Amino acid sequence: MKSLTRLLGLAALLTAHGFAQMSQPMLGEDTTKISDHVWAIMGFPNIAIVVGSRATLVVDTGLGAKNGATVARVAAKLAPNNTRLFLTTTHFHPEHAAGEPGFPAGTILIRDAVQQQEMEQHGQEMIAMFSGHSAQNKELLAGVVLRPPDVTFSQEATVDLGGVTARLLWFGGAHTKGDELTFVEPDRTLVSGDVVQNKTIPNIFGDGGTPATWLAVLEQVAALNAAHVLPDHSAPGDGSLVAAERDLIEGIQTRALALKQQGVSAEDAGKQISGELKTQHPDWPNTNAAGFVKSVYAEP
Ligand SMILES: [Zn+2]
Repeated sequence: MKSLTRLLGLAALLTAHGFAQMSQPMLGEDTTKISDHVWAIMGFPNIAIVVGSRATLVVDTGLGAKNGATVARVAAKLAPNNTRLFLTTTHFHPEHAAGEPGFPAGTILIRDAVQQQEMEQHGQEMIAMFSGHSAQNKELLAGVVLRPPDVTFSQEATVDLGGVTARLLWFGGAHTKGDELTFVEPDRTLVSGDVVQNKTIPNIFGDGGTPATWLAVLEQVAALNAAHVLPDHSAPGDGSLVAAERDLIEGIQTRALALKQQGVSAEDAGKQISGELKTQHPDWPNTNAAGFVKSVYAEP
């Protein structure tokens, strides 16, 4: 039963992240400027690099040490004089966290305590699962050992990079239990992980958050008043993505609860709502909301 849940979670993950991206795990060295102090490597996943006058913060690692080393190299190129490198991760999945061994010695690894707990419980198991996807993944993840972080925090940690402050935030469960958000000041740039996405159906992985906890997280995110948003698996956008995410989740939730009340099965509701979303958003790459509708049905 447990492994079935896991498999279903994986199927949803693959759907949400898209197969095209899944098959391109190698990160390049090109960067896109997001705001005054934030650059991104666009790929699987999008990596944020926040540059201050003294220190640099990287958010997410790429899949395996080879990608981690690429990210660290790009960070060093962006700020050759910065002596201190911080690394944090949006959530415990391997493309976000399992590139850590590629970072140089002395990198300060920091993440929220809930995410670290998930990492300890399921991190190695997720690496095994991702390794099974392709020969390339297997090679990239071979021998990866997840080291303990140097710093954990419960709700917020502030990292002063010199003229730039990164607020690392845990607001509650959404895509996973330990989803971390990074808010960069003074840029007002939000590195949003899977919590705020762009033209992407939300997905709760395994026993992560619930639709209600995701909405509660978004309420706190909205109060940050972000001007720029960098999601991990979709295109960057402005602060309006936060309200758009809330509207999308509330929309699916309202629709699913109405169908549930009419006695429609979760499967049929999933199909129906996915079709409605396709009509509403013909330009979105994927509107399969079956997984999220199930999450709405299962909400206690
Ligand atoms: Zn994920």
